[in-house]
This record gives sequence, structure tokens and C-alpha cells, in this order.
Amino acid sequence: MIIQLCGLSGAGKTTIAKNVQRKAAAYGTPIEIIDGDSYREFLCRDLGFSKEDRCENIRRLGFVASRLSSYGIVSIISAINPYEAIRQELSASYTHVKTVFIDCAVDELIARDTKGLYKRALLPDGHPDKLSNLTGINDPFEVPSQPDLHLHTDEQSITACTNLFLQFIIQSLALQQAKYASVASN
Ligand code: ADP
Repeated sequence: MIIQLCGLSGAGKTTIAKNVQRKAAAYGTPIEIIDGDSYREFLCRDLGFSKEDRCENIRRLGFVASRLSSYGIVSIISAINPYEAIRQELSASYTHVKTVFIDCAVDELIARDTKGLYKRALLPDGHPDKLSNLTGINDPFEVPSQPDLHLHTDEQSITACTNLFLQFIIQSLALQQAKYASVASN
């Protein structure tokens, strides 16, 4: 199974994915987190933050996820993933792809600002430290039309979000296995 996360910087994608990975290990469920920031340092080093490059980034992460997923590893793509067309392309390209929206109000993200990115994006135009392509501030984020799971990290605790995500994965895997079992018995 491939799970493509989407959500603004600081929404909680990494935090929740890591918690779920740790908890799922206790069930013997292997999870790999395909972290957008890490892959940008290696496999996607040539890509920037234009729409085309952000989409190509997701395409490459999706390919890696599909290879791991074919060995039964639950592959979580953790990236901002802001465009609906590429999310839908990924869903159509591979089997068992789920979209999970890690949602958080921008005001709360500005208050959290764990990486200092919002402060930089909100600097006046012309300031040398200004970030001009921060998703949700001065770069687009298209809200997913029909996510398979929608978590609100500004309304629910980290523990609650983690548990909801873990339940979702366990239920999705059970459904997937039931489908295989019914195909095998026909
Ligand atoms: P992202 O990977 O989406 O950029 P991070 O997981 O790196 O986001 O950062 C999210 C920050 O928000 C962390 O500091 C985390 O402790 C905090 N946080 C507060 N509430 C939540 C929540 N319900 N779920 C996830 N993170 C939360």
C-alpha cells in the first residue's frame, strides 16, 4: 500500500508518520517513510519548487513507494504534495494508493513555525531572507477533493491523530487482504 500525505509545512506529516511507524512495528507491519526533504538531498537534488518540479518530485517518490509496496511494505510519502493533478496521477498509476490530508490552519502553523519558514515568507518584499515560495503563504496548495483520511492537527492531539492514522492503515490493509483472499478462493 502507498499512502501519499499532503499538507502544509509544519502541519505534522513527519511527526505523525514517525509515530505511526513506531507503533505499527509492534504489529509487525513494516512502514517506510519516504521523506520529501531527505529525497531532495539525493534522488531529487536537481529539483526546485516550481509546479513542474514539485510534481516531478512526487512522481519519483511515487515510483520508489511502488517498488517498496510491491514487497508488502506500507510506503508513506511525506511531502507537501500541493497539486491535485499529480496526486490523482499517482492514485491512477499504482494499485492501493491512499491519500491522507494532514490539515492545519495557517494561523496555527505561523504560531508553531518550527523551522522558521513562515517568519521568512512573511518578511517584506525585497528582504534578503524572504522566502518567496512557501506553500500556503505565497505558493499554492490545492485542497484534496476526496482524501481517504482527513486529520486536523490543530484540533486533535498528536496521540489522537497518530491513533486515527494507525487505525486507518490497519483497516485498509485488512480490506486489501480480504480482497486478495476472495480472488484466491474463486
Ligand atoms: P511537517 O512534516 O508537516 O512539516 P512536522 O511533523 O515536522 O511537520 O512538525 C509538526 C509540528 O507540529 C511538531 O513540532 C509537532 O510537535 C507539532 N504538533 C502539534 N500538534 C500536532 C498534531 N496534532 N499532530 C502533529 N504535529 C503536531
